[in-house]
Amino acid sequence: MEFLNYILVGGTGLLTGSFLNVVSDRLFHKKDFVTGRSKCDHCHKTLSAWDLIPVLSFILLGGKCRYCHKKLDILYPISEILTSAVFIFLYYLILIKNLEVSFIPYYLIAFSLFIIVFLSDYKYYEVPFGIVVSGTVFSTLYRYLVIGNLNYDNLFIELASTLGIGLFFFLIIYLSKGGMGGGDLKLSFFISLFLGFPKNVFAIYYAFVIGGIFAIILLILGKKGYKAKIPFGPFMIIGVLVSLIL
Ligand SMILES: [Zn+2]
Repeated sequence: MEFLNYILVGGTGLLTGSFLNVVSDRLFHKKDFVTGRSKCDHCHKTLSAWDLIPVLSFILLGGKCRYCHKKLDILYPISEILTSAVFIFLYYLILIKNLEVSFIPYYLIAFSLFIIVFLSDYKYYEVPFGIVVSGTVFSTLYRYLVIGNLNYDNLFIELASTLGIGLFFFLIIYLSKGGMGGGDLKLSFFISLFLGFPKNVFAIYYAFVIGGIFAIILLILGKKGYKAKIPFGPFMIIGVLVSLIL
């Protein structure tokens, strides 16, 4: 029975990943993501339901558009699999940590928003403002009203740590002169209020460690120069996951 649950959660993750991809693309292109059918990135032909089955369509079509035969972005199936993996992982986390049921919608909604930010920053070097604000407001209200681990007793330390992290980002943005953007600063508020103290501090710490290692590897491999632009948002979201695991 447990196995069936994992299949169900994984399948939901695949479908959600497919949808979040569409959202991240259309947010950037300022299009309506509720109505309007998906189109090929190259020939702009409207895709049928058969072309949109997560991962499977990509494999069956050999990674090419059915109509113009141009290569489809490998990022689509990869992000669908990653979303599915995140969903399965969250489900596992809730089971082994015996978290209350109220955490399930909290994690699923927040991580759906995180994945949109991840994809937008990775693909377009842009942290979508509306998503980050929604996430910050959602996290604060949900923790205050439903979970209850944000209350008057810890309000000061929560706000102080969030402001501290924000100030830290502000300094880095100032000192790096464009190396890091305001989007990362806004994302830090969402992350901080989603995780709460002290996990928020750890998440940012892990983001810098993992991002730093990644940048060094790219430099050694000669893939990116010193001045290359590497989006930092994805590392911050990986930091959130790592801080939840540890
Ligand atoms: Zn096409």
